[in-house]
Amino acid sequence: MFIGNRWFASTSGQTVPVVAPAEGIVFAEIAEASSEDVDLAVSTAREAMDGTWGCSTATQRGRLLMRLSALILDHAEELALIEARDTGRPISLARNDVLVTARYFEFYGGGADKLHGETIPYLADFFVATQREPHGVTAHIIPWNYPAQMFGRSVAPALAAGNAAVVKPAEDGCLSILRIAELAAEAGFPTGALAVLPGRGATTGAALTAHPGIDFIAFTGSPEVGELVQIAAAKRHIGCTLELGGKSPHVVFGDADLEAAVAAIVTGIVQNAGQTCSAGSRVLIERAAYDRVLKALADRFAQTRAGTPEMDLELGPVINAKQRARVDRYIANARESGVPLVATGQIHPGAPPGGYFVAPHLFAPVPEQHPLAVEEVFGPVLAVLPFEDEADALRLANAGEFGLLAGVWTRDGARAMRLARSIRAGQVYINGFGAGGGVELPFGGVKRSGHGREKGFEALYEFSTLKTIIQKHG
Ligand code: NAP
Ligand code: MG
Repeated sequence: MFIGNRWFASTSGQTVPVVAPAEGIVFAEIAEASSEDVDLAVSTAREAMDGTWGCSTATQRGRLLMRLSALILDHAEELALIEARDTGRPISLARNDVLVTARYFEFYGGGADKLHGETIPYLADFFVATQREPHGVTAHIIPWNYPAQMFGRSVAPALAAGNAAVVKPAEDGCLSILRIAELAAEAGFPTGALAVLPGRGATTGAALTAHPGIDFIAFTGSPEVGELVQIAAAKRHIGCTLELGGKSPHVVFGDADLEAAVAAIVTGIVQNAGQTCSAGSRVLIERAAYDRVLKALADRFAQTRAGTPEMDLELGPVINAKQRARVDRYIANARESGVPLVATGQIHPGAPPGGYFVAPHLFAPVPEQHPLAVEEVFGPVLAVLPFEDEADALRLANAGEFGLLAGVWTRDGARAMRLARSIRAGQVYINGFGAGGGVELPFGGVKRSGHGREKGFEALYEFSTLKTIIQKHG
């Protein structure tokens, strides 16, 4: 683990094996942070807030973030190789992830000195101003699906706003984050501004979120653990942001650029083996175009291949044996309940037999209430449903418990805008879809997808609190 700009072993001596998902073999070991280690990280972060880091100017913080961004780019290939081995993702995807991670530190480096309050007109003999202040010590629970990117997304705005960040990466995706923490020390971040504590969720994660020294929690992961995190935050009356995934729909009308729609839909669900919170995992197709669009989707699906990072195909394995079993269960259940399987992709014959590969599966039509139409699979499985008209499309798009993203595909601009404004989701794309893209674009959920906004300038508001100063000057 990395605390106070130095490496530590766990005080408990416990370690967690690190598995390469493309091979199914252990290739490294990481420390499992104990509750004593969490204490040390939080108290070191508190000292930083009370010392050098707490006194830093916004300009100084911005420069440090920019320097870290440059160091990430200098080490881009090394970081991409680490990420690819640790998570099994295709090397091209890992390379892109590293660029996006650097971009987060660049964006929030530029944002640090632009976060300011305002003056408020009040009574004649008063002057009122607001100022943005850091929460203090922030806890960040990061998932395994995009480790480096999620780290950048969560930690860069927190540091820019002047918080000291204590990070618990997922045990299945922490190596790139540990290396970036080391680069942060090299960039010149003072002791205690950033700590990374790998370990298991139920032990390290729970100890961190319940810690009395934490002032704010940012969580990305499953709705089930999100609930636990929110309870931990509620017990201490601190704030939290929760990003809990989704079942994001594409709404495809017959008048759309169908070629563009089909390409984006397949990429969106196959990318990262479907393990993307904002994956468009439900496709709603206008009845009149249903057969045509489904055939185009099936043709493309059949061409997708899963393989190792080095093969660099459309997708890699899923993250671990448990996740593969979970995805396989959804597939088996859909087949047993008679949902038609329209197309499958392939697993490359050269892929190691021990890897956690799942071939892409396209099911259509999926009944509205079927688990495949409403639950987050987090695998390369696409559910297609027909709709009758615009009202029916809106009803289906808003059905279910999640509300993270949506894509609307049509050449009718008025219809696109009506739907975009009526769909309950944190982001709506029109004639495009970016699963996870755009550091500048505020992002987050409604309903069971969580609350709070990350990315864009909005994240700087989440990671700061507002003080109003009221002066009577007579
Ligand atoms: P998860 O358990 O919610 O894991 C997310 C993060 O929370 C990890 O860092 C995990 O640590 C940590 N964690 C687990 N239990 C915790 C606790 N009691 N207190 C504090 N932190 C805790 O997700 P998962 O089990 O890996 O995946 C299950 C499902 O969640 C997936 O199939 C998918 O549907 C969804 N998911 C969504 C996203 C997303 O981006 N929205 C990301 C990941 C998963 P460890 O992993 O080290 O235990
Ligand atoms: Mg791994």
